[in-house]
This record gives sequence, structure tokens and C-alpha cells, in this order.
Amino acid sequence: MKCPHCGASDTRVVDSRPAEDGAILRRRRSCDACGMRFSTHERVLESALIVVKKDGRREEFDPEKLRGGIAKACNKRSVSTDQITQLLRDIESTLRSEARSEVEVERVGELVMEKLFHLDQVAYVRFASVYQRFDDVKRFAQLLERMSRRGRRGTATSKSTSKQATEDNDLKS
Ligand SMILES: [Zn+2]
Repeated sequence: MKCPHCGASDTRVVDSRPAEDGAILRRRRSCDACGMRFSTHERVLESALIVVKKDGRREEFDPEKLRGGIAKACNKRSVSTDQITQLLRDIESTLRSEARSEVEVERVGELVMEKLFHLDQVAYVRFASVYQRFDDVKRFAQLLERMSRRGRRGTATSKSTSKQATEDNDLKS
């Protein structure tokens, strides 16, 4: 590894330790030429997971892009940053386990909702109501229906949210 300070090509590894549950190997290096110390992260290269957007454009799946929307949905709920990080990892590993190199953007949204549903139902409804702005109302209604069938207590909430969603949609059109 080239020294970032002087550009010497020989640097020594002085320490190696796993990080992020062994997904990363963190190495501390030292440059014999200038004495600079720096760290590198070594990670297994995974083949790119491509998300196909609605307009047909393709981009590499980046779980961090989902974090903002999920964090917003979890605002003031008892969901920790670690739980969100775990949720993003789960989504990525589920997508990868489905053994496809390309995934529709709708599938990503579905997975986020599925995982949020188990984590926090309020966050789930919030995320779903934002997500449906980019989707059709019918599909959102189906989701709410599915949710109220799964958890009877959620019925009142889903009704008002569904009404809100319809109003929002009326404003748009
Ligand atoms: Zn150096």
C-alpha cells in the first residue's frame, strides 16, 4: 500500500484487527520512508447489486440512501441507529440472497416496509405513507389492509392514515 504522505510504495502493517463483525479488516500501517502512520480497511469485494428504477435507469444499490427515509419514519420512536443499521444490512442480505443481480426499486421499498413492520408499526405506517406518494394509492391501501389484518390494534390508525393518503393524493392531481 502506497504511503499517502510521501508516496513511498513500501509500507508496513503494524496492526490488524477485524471490525464490523469481521466484515472489515482494519490495518494500521507505517511508512518506513517518512514515518507516517495510517489505516486501511480491507473488505471482500461483492458483485454490484443493481437497482432498476421506474424509468428504467439503473444504479448501484446503496443502503445508505435508504437511511434518511427510514430514520425520518423512526423519528421519536424507540428505534436506535444500530437497529436502523441492522435493518439496512438485513435488506441488503435479503436482496443478495434472492440471488438476482438486478432488483426492481419496488422490491426494495417492499422490503423496507416488511422489515419496518416488524420493528415499529408507527414507523412502518409513516414510511408507507411517504413511499406511496411515488406509487399508486391502490397498492398503499392493500398494504394497510394487510397490516390491519395482521395486527387488529392498528385498524384505527390505518383508517386515518389511509384517508390522509387519499387527501394528499387529491391535492396532487
Ligand atoms: Zn511515507
